[in-house]
Amino acid sequence: MLADYAVRVEQSRGRRIPEPQHPYRNDFQRDRDRVIHSRAFRRLEAKTQVFTRRFSDHFRNRLTHTLEVAQIARTIAGQLGLNVDLVEALALVHDVGHPPFGHAGEKALDAVMREHGLFFDHNLHALRIVEDFELRYAAFRGLNLTFEVREGIIKHSHDYSVEQFPELAEYLLDQRPPLEAQLIDLADEIAYDTADLDDGYEARLLTLLQIRGGVPGFDGFYGDAERAYPSAIEKLKFNEALKRILDRMVGDLIHNLTDRIKAAGIRCLGDVRAYPQRLATFSPAVEEERRGTKQFLYQNLYFSAALNPEKIDAERVIRQLFDFWMVKPESLPQSYQEKAEQESLPRVICDYIAGMTDNFIYEQHEKYCGNT
Ligand code: MG
Repeated sequence: MLADYAVRVEQSRGRRIPEPQHPYRNDFQRDRDRVIHSRAFRRLEAKTQVFTRRFSDHFRNRLTHTLEVAQIARTIAGQLGLNVDLVEALALVHDVGHPPFGHAGEKALDAVMREHGLFFDHNLHALRIVEDFELRYAAFRGLNLTFEVREGIIKHSHDYSVEQFPELAEYLLDQRPPLEAQLIDLADEIAYDTADLDDGYEARLLTLLQIRGGVPGFDGFYGDAERAYPSAIEKLKFNEALKRILDRMVGDLIHNLTDRIKAAGIRCLGDVRAYPQRLATFSPAVEEERRGTKQFLYQNLYFSAALNPEKIDAERVIRQLFDFWMVKPESLPQSYQEKAEQESLPRVICDYIAGMTDNFIYEQHEKYCGNT
């Protein structure tokens, strides 16, 4: 049962290249399946989220993070009567534009591009992947996704202005995205805040004492777990507390969004789009906790010295490879050399690097830049 304000697949603005209907999958289900079958999706498995395999095989990578976001987003969407197929497609595609080496890779790639008067943005890159780079179908380049999925890729986490990005004008930049897209950003944050606490604790970069003292709400939940399971080992009580943090954020988002939809008198998708702000937000109390948790992660985990080797590698490997291909574009794969006839060389190199997995970029670096 879809709510009145949900996106309806029958009302989709459709694909760039019209295709016949599938006998038993609707267009959003097909888009979800196209994402899952794409090469960019498979590469997520070998891209860093926060921790690399150097620490353990149990830590999240971009693929398992993506699956956690999809699971959280599906739950929220189901409760709110939103279009779960669209939500799932958007969640599964939301990180395909990320370069190797996690956040450090993104920063490094953006920094080298800025030296050429350009920049790197993972949402724009994701759009280029699904519009152009994926070569899978004989009838068209890219995945030929529906408008709503492409719009969600661009608008789920960021507002782009049409003055700055005239090429994105078709995505109704003066309007809010549907709730299906709005909730992806929050599901993403719920997923990585809790996962990073978990992985940080497992990696022994965060102690229980630190987390109990610094993460809003955690201490109370840990106390509940201690009383309920006095003989359980610490990690299991930690898991119980973390699970309750996740549940609290998800529950709050569902309730707060329901209240806001009512208060704003939202009756249809058009109302969601025309509303002056995004409706999908946490309540003020939980928003405050979310901010506190994020601050805790920045202060205690993301800049931890233990993560430095990968950050230094990201900067060094990306910069050296980028500079190498700027001087020797003839060493790029043939298809990228051809692209460089239509687009600027820095953009083509950036596209190539952004698509790489952590493993592949190390191999390329070894091959072209030696062991420097
Ligand atoms: Mg993400």
